[in-house]
Amino acid sequence: MSNSTKRKVAIIGAGLAGTTAGLGLINAGFDVTIYSDRDRASLRNDVPPTGTAVYFGKSLDYDAEIIEDLYDAGTSTGMSVRIFSGAGEARTPVLAFDSPFKYKAQAVDTRLRADDRLARFLARGGKFQVRAVTPRDLDAIAADVDLTLVATGKGGLSSLFPVDTGRSAYAEPQRHLLLATFKGLHHADRQFAYRSSDGAKHNWFTIHAEFGETFFGPYLHKDIGASWAFIGFAKPASPWIELFKSVTDTQRARDVVVDLFATYFPEDAALIEQLQPLHEDPHSWFLGAVTPTVRRAVATTANGHPIVAIGDAAISFDPIGGQGAQTAVIQAASLVRALKTHAGKITFEWLQDQFEKHWNNRGDAATEVTRLFLGDPKYATHAELLFAAAAVNVDIGTAFLGLLSEPQPLLGIQSREDIIKLISDRAGEPAESVLARFKPPQQFARAQSAERAAVPA
Ligand SMILES: Cc1cc2nc3c(=O)[nH]c(=O)nc-3n(C[C@H](O)[C@H](O)[C@H](O)COP(=O)(O)OP(=O)(O)OC[C@H]3O[C@@H](n4cnc5c(N)ncnc54)[C@H](O)[C@@H]3O)c2cc1C
Repeated sequence: MSNSTKRKVAIIGAGLAGTTAGLGLINAGFDVTIYSDRDRASLRNDVPPTGTAVYFGKSLDYDAEIIEDLYDAGTSTGMSVRIFSGAGEARTPVLAFDSPFKYKAQAVDTRLRADDRLARFLARGGKFQVRAVTPRDLDAIAADVDLTLVATGKGGLSSLFPVDTGRSAYAEPQRHLLLATFKGLHHADRQFAYRSSDGAKHNWFTIHAEFGETFFGPYLHKDIGASWAFIGFAKPASPWIELFKSVTDTQRARDVVVDLFATYFPEDAALIEQLQPLHEDPHSWFLGAVTPTVRRAVATTANGHPIVAIGDAAISFDPIGGQGAQTAVIQAASLVRALKTHAGKITFEWLQDQFEKHWNNRGDAATEVTRLFLGDPKYATHAELLFAAAAVNVDIGTAFLGLLSEPQPLLGIQSREDIIKLISDRAGEPAESVLARFKPPQQFARAQSAERAAVPA
């Protein structure tokens, strides 16, 4: 154990979770070493971002306890949702709503966020060791410090923490993912007005009821700055899976997204085809799939030293509900907060108590909101009623999107009666009257081609 007056911390992994905890603990006066399997330049330049990692509202407050807001792009203020069903001649619009957030959302490249944290961590005396830590190393590392955090992401050392089957709703991935970043359209472009009251400041969530979902919105890329994030979520057996699998480089990523919109969401095609591949960053795209998993986040090494998992190593989410990065920074900031006032020994039991608090504060609700966005049968009534009500009343859409920032209220809205009450309360009139006004749209407004949009009205 440490002889220094400062308490010693080892953090394995320098992604968003590891660097957030590292900077927070250095600021709080701990002696911190971060171990990373890549050096700083490689973390920034040789790997794709772990995800789009939009912070929706509340997580920005937690993040502000760790680092000042450095970013002036990638901000969004609402969401334009459109749902379609069927294909070809049988393709039909199901519903749409465009609602503002009651908060700010911010999508910044995880590589940049982590690098900015690492820069400050190093400047304030943090130590950084480049090595891939094995379970055996971990035992020796943990023996020498007061606290060991495992922040190695979904893979890495997460298997040291057993899956909590009681808290994990799924045993396999629910979506095949394509993430890609593009340039070519301006964040203030007026062409976006056909979908949203706030133009390009509203993200798009465009859903095909049978095949999957797409997210598209403003993003801050680590090198080029203002840019566009796309995520495709293909359901099992969706024809999108083969399309995604054909992506091999930045150009093909762009062509596949253009093709996807042209075939399934042609209303947006004229705008999407103006996107350009981000050749500057060969790691601006990736294919993936996440098994949503909750782990028993506190374990011991071979010689009985406690270790705690943070970020994706503790809870990994399907990204459809945008919860992973948010939950990671909330967990890291909450742990830093608790450690500042905990003078005693950092025991297994104390760490377990902290994780239970995190589960109750965020993890449980974030897991449930992800199930809602995945269209899990548990939340079929929520989706049916809330989407229809949001299409009629903009405030219901805002309340629904509030769950991305603060998912906790969902835990108290479980029965049909709870949902009806929410709709009535938000609308100021009986839910039945709101829902009776819902009519499926005949068609949706279309994007104009760039040339036509440029002609003054
Ligand atoms: C497509 C997609 C979209 C997403 N969108 C959102 C969103 O909108 N909002 C949101 O909140 N979240 C989102 N997420 C989730 C978010 O990106 C992650 O939750 C978050 O970035 C995880 O950070 P992390 O630090 O836990 O893990 P990682 O970023 O995976 O970092 C782990 C680090 O540990 C290192 N490492 C691994 N093993 C070792 C070892 N043995 N020794 C040393 N180092 C090691 C790795 O190289 C890596 O650098 C999305 C995820 C995906 C896949």
